[in-house]
Amino acid sequence: MHSIARTSLAALIAASMTPPPPTHGTDPLMLPGVSRELARSRGAALSNVRYQMALSLARRDTARGTVTVRFNAARSADVILDFRGPWIGAVRVNGGEAKTEFNGAHLRIPARAVRAGPNVVELPFASLIAPAGASIIRYHDARDNNDYLYTLLVPSDANALFPCFDQPDLKARMTLSLSIPTNWRAIANGITEQVDTAGSLLTYRFRETDPLPTYLFAFAAGPWARFAGVGHRTPLWVRASRANEVEVDSLQNQVASALSSLERYFGVKYPFQQFQYMLSPAFPFGGMEHPGVTMFNEESFIYREPPTLNQRLGRRATIYHEVAHHWFGDDVTMRWFDDLWLKEGFATYMAAKMQAIEGLPNPWMSFYLRNKPLAYDVDQTSGTTPVWQSLANLDQAKSNYGAIVYNKAPGILKQLNYLVGDSAFRAGLHEFLISHQYGNATWQDLLASIGKAANRSLTEWGRQYILRPGMPVLEQRLEIANGRVSRLTLIQHPAQALSGKGVWPMRTEVVLWSRDSTPVFVPVEISAETTIVAAAKGRRAPDFVFANANDNAYGLVMLDTASVQWLSQHVGEVKDPLLRAMLWGAMWDLVRDARLAPATFIATAMRELPQETDEQIAAGIVTRLSRATATYISAAQERELVGAVERTLLGLASDASRPYGIRKSALDAYVAMAKTPGALATLAAWLDSASTAGLPLRQPTRWNIVTHLVERGSARADSMIAGEERRDTTSSGKRSAFVAVAAKPATAVKGDYFRRYFADTTLNEEWVTASLRGFNSSDAAALTLPYLVPALDSLPWIQRNRRIFFLGSWLGSFIGGQRSGEALREVDRFLAEHPKLALDLRQKVLQSRDDLERTVRIRAKYAGGVALTP
Ligand SMILES: [Zn+2]
Repeated sequence: MHSIARTSLAALIAASMTPPPPTHGTDPLMLPGVSRELARSRGAALSNVRYQMALSLARRDTARGTVTVRFNAARSADVILDFRGPWIGAVRVNGGEAKTEFNGAHLRIPARAVRAGPNVVELPFASLIAPAGASIIRYHDARDNNDYLYTLLVPSDANALFPCFDQPDLKARMTLSLSIPTNWRAIANGITEQVDTAGSLLTYRFRETDPLPTYLFAFAAGPWARFAGVGHRTPLWVRASRANEVEVDSLQNQVASALSSLERYFGVKYPFQQFQYMLSPAFPFGGMEHPGVTMFNEESFIYREPPTLNQRLGRRATIYHEVAHHWFGDDVTMRWFDDLWLKEGFATYMAAKMQAIEGLPNPWMSFYLRNKPLAYDVDQTSGTTPVWQSLANLDQAKSNYGAIVYNKAPGILKQLNYLVGDSAFRAGLHEFLISHQYGNATWQDLLASIGKAANRSLTEWGRQYILRPGMPVLEQRLEIANGRVSRLTLIQHPAQALSGKGVWPMRTEVVLWSRDSTPVFVPVEISAETTIVAAAKGRRAPDFVFANANDNAYGLVMLDTASVQWLSQHVGEVKDPLLRAMLWGAMWDLVRDARLAPATFIATAMRELPQETDEQIAAGIVTRLSRATATYISAAQERELVGAVERTLLGLASDASRPYGIRKSALDAYVAMAKTPGALATLAAWLDSASTAGLPLRQPTRWNIVTHLVERGSARADSMIAGEERRDTTSSGKRSAFVAVAAKPATAVKGDYFRRYFADTTLNEEWVTASLRGFNSSDAAALTLPYLVPALDSLPWIQRNRRIFFLGSWLGSFIGGQRSGEALREVDRFLAEHPKLALDLRQKVLQSRDDLERTVRIRAKYAGGVALTP
């Protein structure tokens, strides 16, 4: 069934591989990428690195330039530079022509040309400019026909831009000059010192940068608009056609408050020449922390319809995260990408901590909602990795990005902060930042600083939380006799066998909660598999117990039967929003573990939603309600339930007494779910109206409606899409049309899109990502099943050619679009037939497989027609 698609895909991938694979003779250091050995040997031999680069951006597809690399060598020995761009010219070393060896990945300068002490290497080179797959991204603005360029080198693309030592611990100062068309402007890490006109070009000269790792070098060029910023300290750049849509004041205020809160907390001044930031169109991440050119995702920073609280909080969290990186990551940098968690975990944890210190409402609830469920979902799979992830070669560094570093790492930092207390934590961070300023450090350095301040060894803590893969599960056992607690037991076990035996040391608080008395919080230290909570004994029987009150522990809490029974009837009575959010999470974890019937969860959600007052919690309930209805129940249950779920969502969306964010998330879920003929007719009618459920109808929702109707096989698909494109002529409209077509349940469309994902070099990567969900709509699972194995076959190509987060979205969509045992068997057969698949790729497949396996298990157990209990 897959052979045809597979063969054509293999040919396609082979054809689109340019340049040919480099040859490397016999020297392993000359292999593609940057091996850990190469990085280690260079790190020991070289120092005092400086780059002087002149680059012309006058041509559309190729940048041409020269670079002068200065460095000190400990002794006269071969020096290897990294470069995988399309062309280099003659190389001069220390003033003379040198016979060097270039293999498409590295340039070797022979020992005889290298002196002990200072050396200078000069060479011309070219690098690529393209919408995707190049170190310089070109974005074409369809509205005003302007081109915008920006670089995005993290983690391993600096060596696609220019010849360099591409490793984070050879920090260097860069002096850059850029030649650009006269109607453009440019920004870079350093302050602009001079702009000269020469013929049809402008040349920008930037001040020499502070010491930076190669992955943080950045520039942008194009007809950008500029907003000066508070005291001209924080200029904001945005493309001209969207300049009047930016909420400049609120962005500027948040940037300014993040900068001052972090300076105050760390006791370390902002460490770089300038803070400038820009909104990058079609940006493949949420943000990127280049000093002087910090980039944010334009699409999630400029709202095309009024934002929900969740969107606003997400934007603020991203701003604080990227600003925090200027200390954690930019100033003190990981030595190698195995310690990626060190910067990512900190940036996210600090973002929440600063908002808590500033007194913003419920930052730890947002922190929980944005991190813990994502971390737990991956960390309980057999594809999980330790927080510290061994990395043999920089070209696999993309695989180290994911929920473990972004969501688990901040979670364990919260546990560490709770363990050592606020003042030791803060003092330790200050010492860490001061002693490694503009340098590099490892996780051991961090734990040493915090351990010293706390006057305790954190070695065992590090072994359990940083080096050990997987996570603990805490099972609650509550025994009641005569209306009193006779015993409360917490049993800790690893979620997966790969963690091995042993207990994660843990400090937590257990809450015993009753509706008619004050909750009792009991601090508990866990150091054994079974912990009896002695302080609970003899207390009045609570309505429920929860073993991670205040979310300080990192672990999956499995509620006891009595607690879950009470909660599925009364969870809304818990007024503390953080606790209520975690209880919804704990009930959902029971659903995902096939211990609680999806229909029970659906009934609880439908009953509680109309009363839920917190926007963030309501949005989470809506997401899980949609997921349970779309994926976990049988066709018969669906016939029985879907109309009621639609009515609940529509009722909530239409209720003018509810906050906008709650109405909007219900509306979005209704649009995404609509299945009954009545609901589909409602959607179609909305397109001819100015409002939906009483909310003004704006373009993004119009596109969601069109995409959903297309996905449901509307006979009017083509005319609807064409009509919408006439109405929305922005580049965002073009992207939305591309996404809508992907959702068509038609064999020819799926085939065409799948080919274009690999072969169409004009496609922005972000467009492809946006289209994957629609392509893999679960209603079209039979149509897309033939692409499942080809999608898995393409992983090595994707790892080479796509940016950091793409591979996870790709797998999440192709595996996540399926829900059958047949699909699960296809994934398992693929894994069995590819024993040599690289470990990092196998782990990513296993992470996505886990969710499909749970879906199959839940459906096998409950989709046989279990009646609604509540
Ligand atoms: Zn980050």
